[in-house]
Amino acid sequence: MDENSAFDDPDEPSTSTGITRKRVSDGPEIVLGEKGEFPNFGHYMDAKVQKLMHQVHSNVTKKSDLFNGISIFVNGYTLPPAAELKKIVVENGGEYHHYYKLGRTTYMIAMNLAKSKLDSLRKEEIVVHPKWIMNSLQQGLLLPIHPYLLTKQLELTQNVLRTHANPETSASRFYERSRLHLISTLAQEMKEYIAELRSKMDTHEFVSRSKLCHLSGSKGDHSAFICHLDMDCFFVSIGLRMRPDLVGKPLVITHSRSASDHGKAEIASCSYEARKFNIKNGMWISDAYNLCPDLVCLPYQFEEYRASSKRLYSIVSKYTLDIKAVSCDEMYVDLSGLCEELQIGDVMGVVNEIRKEIFDELNCNASAGIGPNMLIARLATKKAKPNGQFMVTSSEVSNFIRPVAIKDLPGVGYSSLHKIKEAFGNMMTCEELQSVFCSTLQALFGTKLGAKVEIIV
Ligand SMILES: [Mg+2]
Repeated sequence: MDENSAFDDPDEPSTSTGITRKRVSDGPEIVLGEKGEFPNFGHYMDAKVQKLMHQVHSNVTKKSDLFNGISIFVNGYTLPPAAELKKIVVENGGEYHHYYKLGRTTYMIAMNLAKSKLDSLRKEEIVVHPKWIMNSLQQGLLLPIHPYLLTKQLELTQNVLRTHANPETSASRFYERSRLHLISTLAQEMKEYIAELRSKMDTHEFVSRSKLCHLSGSKGDHSAFICHLDMDCFFVSIGLRMRPDLVGKPLVITHSRSASDHGKAEIASCSYEARKFNIKNGMWISDAYNLCPDLVCLPYQFEEYRASSKRLYSIVSKYTLDIKAVSCDEMYVDLSGLCEELQIGDVMGVVNEIRKEIFDELNCNASAGIGPNMLIARLATKKAKPNGQFMVTSSEVSNFIRPVAIKDLPGVGYSSLHKIKEAFGNMMTCEELQSVFCSTLQALFGTKLGAKVEIIV
């Protein structure tokens, strides 16, 4: 498609705004000003980027999903050249960006960068050698980027820490803010990703459903179809992909390198081995070292979390789009439609296939709880972890919920526990809560938590 033919096919102008929307035949919509001009340079660039993206991704014969969720921008001379890297990435499920877009482009690909450019890199800009793409393609596996980083990102990170005047406070706050910001941004991104896939439902293909053929016609309980899917210590699992030598060791993800370094750094994620020492997420690193002096710390890998999260959602979307994204590593999946369409009764078999595919692609374990509703499914996940799946059918709900601690109910925090204690004395389990009239509980907690309680009693 040449430059001029891009705007051949105008839609109806929108008279109220004086803005014209034009569309490349079956391509992206471009917003123009009253006289067909671009309102400003930003709009011009957006339109140009959209058009280039369309050109890059149309007429591509897709070969695999290897680079799904990954977008690259090639900076300067590379071997192989940019055109070939573009072809490889796009043919294998990734995106090629003609312009680097902060927050959108996953990796900058380069063989060399000027020192001035290196010095001015923002921490989100990850520069990777093209060998990463070639070797990943050759092995048919998305390899860890660390050995291919052009810049020593981790060292840069530590330098930032060292240059802070008061590392224990300002650096901690900086990283804590970054972490929380990233986690909430990722959750939102995944919600938007699913919404985008749903908007293209007509053409969406559930390509992985073919893996469920053997389950067609299977028998099973038809009361539990809601699956709560949650990755096991997600950040740790991703960290271990780069450091398989640390598998089985008590380790945590934090920006701190040692207890003497920044004792007030928070732990973002801890391995099951670390949990055996009573180490928990959110704990200060100095306290964790007191519990386990051999504790190993790994740094954050923000961009790896983003790429892996998108791959996780992409895998599940190949089975169904009845997905409710909760966070970067946690979602609810309603399997009722899928099971009905494919005549499957064995829901556990479906969940097993999904978890297997997640592990095969991400090399991270996912656990799943299955139940008649989201609350029971989520509670069932606790029984499933680590690396398992657990189902509670309608007839089992009552027995299942009785021994569950009230404090473990989602949405029940300190304030609710305090209210229960004030009203009924020291109650510990749902069984004790069942002795209270539903209407009394609803009056105490309002309708939202009351509705949850109604499921329990
Ligand atoms: Mg998780």
